[in-house]
Amino acid sequence: MTGVTLKNIKKSYGKTDVLFGIDLQIELGEFVVFVGPSGCGKSTLLRMIAGLEDITDGELYIEDVLVNDIPSAMRGIAMVFQTYALYPHMTVYDNMAFAMRIAKENKAKIDERVNAAADMLQLKPYLDRLPKALSGGQRQRVAIGRAIVRNPKVFLFDEPLSNLDAALRVQTRIEIANLKETLKDTTMIYVTHDQVEAMTLADRIVVLAAGKIEQVGTPLELYTKPANLFVAKFIGSPAMNIFKADVVKTGGNTCIKTKNGHQFDIPVKSLAGLNNQEISVGVRPEDFYLSDQESCLLSGEVAFVESLGEVTLLHLAYHEKENPVVVKIPGIVNKHKGDIVYLQAEQDKVHLFDPQGISLLYL
Ligand code: ADP
Repeated sequence: MTGVTLKNIKKSYGKTDVLFGIDLQIELGEFVVFVGPSGCGKSTLLRMIAGLEDITDGELYIEDVLVNDIPSAMRGIAMVFQTYALYPHMTVYDNMAFAMRIAKENKAKIDERVNAAADMLQLKPYLDRLPKALSGGQRQRVAIGRAIVRNPKVFLFDEPLSNLDAALRVQTRIEIANLKETLKDTTMIYVTHDQVEAMTLADRIVVLAAGKIEQVGTPLELYTKPANLFVAKFIGSPAMNIFKADVVKTGGNTCIKTKNGHQFDIPVKSLAGLNNQEISVGVRPEDFYLSDQESCLLSGEVAFVESLGEVTLLHLAYHEKENPVVVKIPGIVNKHKGDIVYLQAEQDKVHLFDPQGISLLYL
């Protein structure tokens, strides 16, 4: 049995197409994060799974049951919103018990479930309080508790941490990670634009852009093997450096030659057809290391230095203005504005993208 299956799911608002045929299979108990820039359609997709938006076309299955025409309340889902959406006049206990009371569950069972959820989320001391007497983090925990009490098949989170300050965000993120361990059999789908949340919580991440899936994979698959330039630049902070290079043939080898004249051997079969063409090369800031003039991939003048103690960020004035180069070196580095630095990277840390932005290595 799968948790949630999307088959060619489409969404249009009138004549505006928002989602263009999403295919995705989410395993039972899997924690999947939808991530992507604002407006890419991730909330719409979540709301369609929740039954809060009509499905224009395609099929949606929850635990192998077609639910396109099944109302939200009957789908076995529970949703946690960014805005908490608690009933302000009800205590924490009553907020959490509400759905079970509506479903006419018996009192003992309600009490047992509410207390278990309150235990899980350290809400026991607050059960008699009204939401207004709680911090933002506590309110969001109540919203999560209310969802747990319903014992859903699928737990849906729509940017649940966006309204919290930085410290509470970290704490609540850890609580959600713990929850994932406790509720092992519950499928969870989580929408965020925050890639740290995506990387730390997800079993698999779905990267969306402009209503389409760009790539699906584990956090480390997306980090180490981005399928295209969009994912390469979207996952990782500071973002992957991208610069242009020419594919050249020297002797029997096909190499890439960067614009400031350095040559780099990459024995990639797929380069062969691209002789004399310009491709994009990607290297993450943390994958560059300082080398010398003879053996570097790239060189540039230091434009400014950010010394953060544990790492030093060197920003280079590289000649491609739209693609500044950032280098992240562990510890304290004795480099200053105006210095010329020579950079190298291990071959398996150099990503190559064809003129259409598709990876030459990972497809
Ligand atoms: P995200 O959650 O990724 O920021 P949304 O799913 O909220 O994006 O929105 C995706 C696109 O659908 C956006 O372009 C948005 O303007 C559009 N959209 C969302 N809701 C409606 C609506 N009710 N009517 C028309 N367009 C909408």
